[in-house]
Amino acid sequence: MLKKIVNISKVYTWDPIQNILDEKSNQQILIKDDRILKIDKEINKKVDLIIDAKKCIATPGFIDSHTHPIFVGNRANEFQMRLNGSTYEEIKENGGGILSSIKNVRESNFEELYLNSLKNIKPFINYGTTTMEAKSGYGLSLKDEIKSLKVIKKINNELDIDILPTFLGAHAIPEEYSSTEYVDIICNEMIPQIAEQNLAIFCDVFCEEGYFNLEDSRKILSTAKSFGLIPRMHADEFKYFGASELASDLGAISADHLMAINKKGIKALANSNTIATLLPGTTFFLKKNKYANGRDLIDGGCSIALASDFNPGTCTIRSLSNIVFLALQHCGITLEEAFAAITYNASKSLNKSNSIGLIKENYIADILLWDLDELNEIPYWYDSSTKIYKIFKNGKLIN
Ligand SMILES: [Zn+2]
Repeated sequence: MLKKIVNISKVYTWDPIQNILDEKSNQQILIKDDRILKIDKEINKKVDLIIDAKKCIATPGFIDSHTHPIFVGNRANEFQMRLNGSTYEEIKENGGGILSSIKNVRESNFEELYLNSLKNIKPFINYGTTTMEAKSGYGLSLKDEIKSLKVIKKINNELDIDILPTFLGAHAIPEEYSSTEYVDIICNEMIPQIAEQNLAIFCDVFCEEGYFNLEDSRKILSTAKSFGLIPRMHADEFKYFGASELASDLGAISADHLMAINKKGIKALANSNTIATLLPGTTFFLKKNKYANGRDLIDGGCSIALASDFNPGTCTIRSLSNIVFLALQHCGITLEEAFAAITYNASKSLNKSNSIGLIKENYIADILLWDLDELNEIPYWYDSSTKIYKIFKNGKLIN
């Protein structure tokens, strides 16, 4: 099927060759099935459907490269306790924190986990996210991690959003095991079975003091690699101990959080293909003041992505427009850098930069039409998702 979008005031896309924002006025886009066939001022071709963009601007569909949406219920009580001054320890003693999400996932059957996760994921679409990464990691047993990954697979098949699965068995150490025992279970049981059943593309580790140390993280990610999973890491969130250097050493596709990264870590990431991913929503949600320094990372030679880190405990923001707003205010980056960070660079961090993240011929037609005049209005209007006029996912008009 051939479709043509006419009357687009401006098409915005990243130019990865020149590393600049590419902006073209008065364009038409020709779509054949799921692909962009042509972008030009005037396309004279007989088509099956013409869509009038009514002078909207066009951007690529947004890509969220870090989310934890496979959970049951919510942790609003914990949010309230924090506001009332409770400490992390007090919340934990009251049955809150990550352990409560683990309990809920373990107690849910497949159908319950599926219905809850569907509710968590569906709203991403209306915020303009057309591709997202989704992590398991609230099961922390072979059975419950596999259940979580199968839920991702089912939702991916059903919704008009592409969901790329990450195995995050190494999210926390469950109470019933020592860290050595649990790392062995991850390496000897979980990774081999998950790889065999083709349930994950990536393997992630929460590499922090008190969670998985450098040695554990190296063991888990090397095992994952040997089974064909691509490593990514939660790195340098609380304290610098070399997680970014390990990410670069292992060839991880991304290192995420990075609030505590230092010069040595920045240098390591800059000398690798690892994307530095900033998650300012978490810092904002937890009312902390130390945001990741995107300026230092970019000036140090790193490529950065921005993602939501959507999860039940520390960030319930789904909108990447709002994440861009936070990054512009707190991470020292420009609008153009933030735009690349949720489109082209995010596609690199998901190993998809040959097919998504750009409005370009032969790329997948994931396109947003916004009822706005300029790109800088996307972070400016805090509810800018209400200005999305049309969403194309895989060439299909979905709203
Ligand atoms: Zn995370």
